[in-house]
Amino acid sequence: MSSNIAQNYPYSSESESERAASVARALANHEGLADKVKNESTGLEPEGRWWVWKCPTPACAGLLHAAGFARSAHAVYSLCDTCGKTYLR
Ligand SMILES: [Zn+2]
Repeated sequence: MSSNIAQNYPYSSESESERAASVARALANHEGLADKVKNESTGLEPEGRWWVWKCPTPACAGLLHAAGFARSAHAVYSLCDTCGKTYLR
């Protein structure tokens, strides 16, 4: 796979348990990320399915998972399961 085109449309979807596991793994792998997420976003309402997006970071093959809602904007606060960067979606 070789694409560096930013993809803003959802790539896939996942169940709440898959989402929670991916976010927990990302937080565990990136020091300080849990605090950043807590400071910059609010908790999610329980929902059945969540969108998953491709990480826009060049050369990162990770996926973005919903971690909360952004405090600063009306957007989903998502984080990459691979590089740990956060993006608004
Ligand atoms: Zn990434």
